[in-house]
Amino acid sequence: MWSFSSCASAPKEDFSLKTIPLATRPKNIIFLIGDGMATAQVSAHIYWSGIGKSIFEQFPVVGFHKSHASDYLVTDSAAGATAFACGEKTKVGAIGVLPPDERPCKTILEELDAQGMATGMVTTCTATHATPASFISHLELRALTEEIAAEYLKTNFDCLIAGGEQLFNQRYDKINLLDSLRAKGYVVRRGTNFRKLPLDGSKPFVHFTHEMEPPTASGGRTYLPPATKLACEFLQKRSDKGFFLMVEGSQIDWACHTNDKSWLKAEMADFDLTIREALRFAMQNGETLVVVTGDHECGGLALASQGNSKKYFTPTFSTRVHSATMVPVYAFGPGASLFSGVYENTEIYNKMREALGR
Ligand code: MG
Ligand code: ZN
Repeated sequence: MWSFSSCASAPKEDFSLKTIPLATRPKNIIFLIGDGMATAQVSAHIYWSGIGKSIFEQFPVVGFHKSHASDYLVTDSAAGATAFACGEKTKVGAIGVLPPDERPCKTILEELDAQGMATGMVTTCTATHATPASFISHLELRALTEEIAAEYLKTNFDCLIAGGEQLFNQRYDKINLLDSLRAKGYVVRRGTNFRKLPLDGSKPFVHFTHEMEPPTASGGRTYLPPATKLACEFLQKRSDKGFFLMVEGSQIDWACHTNDKSWLKAEMADFDLTIREALRFAMQNGETLVVVTGDHECGGLALASQGNSKKYFTPTFSTRVHSATMVPVYAFGPGASLFSGVYENTEIYNKMREALGR
């Protein structure tokens, strides 16, 4: 049980998001995905934080997307992220490929990389998990994780911070993809100390935070906010044409699958701090579009009143899987106004491309 005014987790910070002068077109995009995060997850976070204190309340532009896949009303993270990455609906479980014949679709990360922009991803899951995988690989099934890892060699992305090192160096095919990455010029590191990365922008890098899945936010994982800040500053040095960074709060979804409200609370607080880092960069930079959304709802979460009391709420899950509710989209920066309204999840791809003029 939580009262609506207790548990302030984030400091009050006024970003004055509506008032800073901005370029007419963004040079950079920071795209943040809260996996499994829809209106109920954000609402719970708002009441846990104390009304007026969450970052979500400060965005000048809010819209909604319809998350359904090409084959099912209730989507998954593979079809959900492919819709964002390629601007096309695909089947549940498919990564960067389209029906009916599993034709690969070029992702926004691949397209912008080919146009000379710097690109990167930061996640709190393995690099081969469905959400990051859908931006850089093309496979009919999300479960093909070793194949997904190999696809990282096909795009000249600039930085990756994620779990899942074992999928690159302890493989059934015995190929050490870390050696392959090094041969391509990447600095490869592990752990949660980022100081030895080539932060001057001289070389691209891959940094594994864990061998497989990183720990939970309530279990001591703290790297997502600082890694997001670091990635923005690094990518800015990598190309004068701008950058595209995808950041995922991966475990909001896992907390909801487990119906674990304490875990959810910690993941939402961590994602809030991460969004703040993106907005701080964007505020200072003036040429950065920040888009925050979820890929789908998870857990069928309701903020039910606690017993007869209307003063308190008990987060109540109605399922252990995803649900079809619409998902909010928050935007700030040049091009943000494109993101108001109600639209298909595929429109997020189109809107990001339109904002960039590319
Ligand atoms: Mg995910
Ligand atoms: Zn899920």
